[in-house]
Amino acid sequence: MVSVGRHPNIKLYTYSQVESVSGYVGNFRVRVRRKARYVDEERCTGCATCIDRCPWKKIPSEFDMSLGTRPAIYLPFPQAVPRVPVIDTQNCAYFLRGKCRACEKFCPREAIAFDQQDELVDLDVGAIVLATGFHSFDPQRDPRYGRGTLENVLTGLEFERMINSGGPTCGEVRLKDGRTPRRIAIMHCVGSRGEAHAYCSRVCCMYSLKLAHLIRHSVEADVVEFYRDMRAFGKDYEAFYNRTVNDGVQFARYDGDVRIMAYDGRLRIIATDVYSGRLHDQVVDMVVLATGMEPQPDAPEIAHLFGISRSPDGFFLEKHPKLAPVETATDGVFLAGACQGPKDIPDSVAQGSAAAAAALSMMDAGSVALEPFTTWVDAERCCGCRTCEGLCPYGAIRVSEHDGRRTAVVNEVLCKGCGACAAACPVGAASQYGFTSEQVMAEIEGALSIGMLV
Ligand SMILES: Cc1cc2nc3c(=O)[nH]c(=O)nc-3n(C[C@H](O)[C@H](O)[C@H](O)COP(=O)(O)OP(=O)(O)OC[C@H]3O[C@@H](n4cnc5c(N)ncnc54)[C@H](O)[C@@H]3O)c2cc1C
Repeated sequence: MVSVGRHPNIKLYTYSQVESVSGYVGNFRVRVRRKARYVDEERCTGCATCIDRCPWKKIPSEFDMSLGTRPAIYLPFPQAVPRVPVIDTQNCAYFLRGKCRACEKFCPREAIAFDQQDELVDLDVGAIVLATGFHSFDPQRDPRYGRGTLENVLTGLEFERMINSGGPTCGEVRLKDGRTPRRIAIMHCVGSRGEAHAYCSRVCCMYSLKLAHLIRHSVEADVVEFYRDMRAFGKDYEAFYNRTVNDGVQFARYDGDVRIMAYDGRLRIIATDVYSGRLHDQVVDMVVLATGMEPQPDAPEIAHLFGISRSPDGFFLEKHPKLAPVETATDGVFLAGACQGPKDIPDSVAQGSAAAAAALSMMDAGSVALEPFTTWVDAERCCGCRTCEGLCPYGAIRVSEHDGRRTAVVNEVLCKGCGACAAACPVGAASQYGFTSEQVMAEIEGALSIGMLV
């Protein structure tokens, strides 16, 4: 991120949101809302005096999964680029009650700007790479795990923050009452390969093994992994699995069905052993839920904004899983990382590089190859009814006024030749190259005559 922030050819818009996208490959216009952070980026040196001086420090930290707190003016995470704080207007006393301004008083650079407004920026770009990532499954949606009702049931992300030496507990793993856990269970496949999501989230087996390894070495608690199938699919992953076996981690294979309940101040796990059919009945101090990956909640809106499709599981759909894995059906829009489907960091990085290379080679070529079988509209026949405009899945048809008449016009760059407009046009004005009525009839006649000869 730091080298991206410093690169002379990269303009970074952080704390920003895409509002609209128009145009087509090589010629997109993207409107970006730069949200007001109420700190002047040019003046701020990132000295963090404002953060230290803010008196409102008890706000749950999103980055620390609410295991720690942050002030009302804060850096979203320690390595944030640029190192410029943002004011949380929902919790800042000045925005709530019109009083305080401590950050402004103590800022040595006069960088606090309470009157800052959102800014709209229009960008002309040739290609777009979407890398909006994933959302973690919320285990409260499945009451079997006791999440939200039982203490010491954590998600994988929460445990990552807890065991991190730079995290809210400085790496100390503690139960709610402050004791150190002696036995920890890690449950695999939470929200994956089941009713919530039928697919495998791919990363959970390996991050669970990583957490087990960390626990064995820094907490020295016993660890039991409740797994369904161990999927150590990547390079050297099998070796890492063997290492955790040697670390003394226990493995209990279960069928995916589980109940977690309170038991004498601890947690009791009941699941069916796949091999024997008997019950695993284990008592532990803490449960870590290896929650799976799901599409971002705003994936439908983002897909609509950029004119791309989603697969049945809700992730963004690639053009072809083998031949065009980073392209989308909309030319010039590419995919990278977990927005296309669950994947770990090595796979996300590889896909990001592939998407960048695909976008670059397209722009370097300076021209794009069009589909040969696009449609066109006969302006004389068109009645301007807009049937085709509403039907076109690629937004390739616009009805506009020409010589006092409303007629439909096809943008051949956007048209993918699906033929929906030609089939639906009530007056026969829309036709597809290579598939005019005459050509189709001639083909049928030809096929039938061959059939008669045989
Ligand atoms: C508990 C846990 C532990 C893991 N541990 C490992 C591990 O040890 N090793 C490993 O290889 N993988 C691990 N993973 C998987 C890893 O997190 C993912 O592979 C990786 O985060 C995917 O990267 P990404 O950039 O595609 O998506 P993300 O990391 O999700 O990043 C997407 C970014 O896009 C931003 N964004 C989203 N929507 C918008 C929008 N509309 N506008 C602007 N920005 C937007 C988000 O804020 C986010 O910053 C773990 C996952 C979990 C849940």
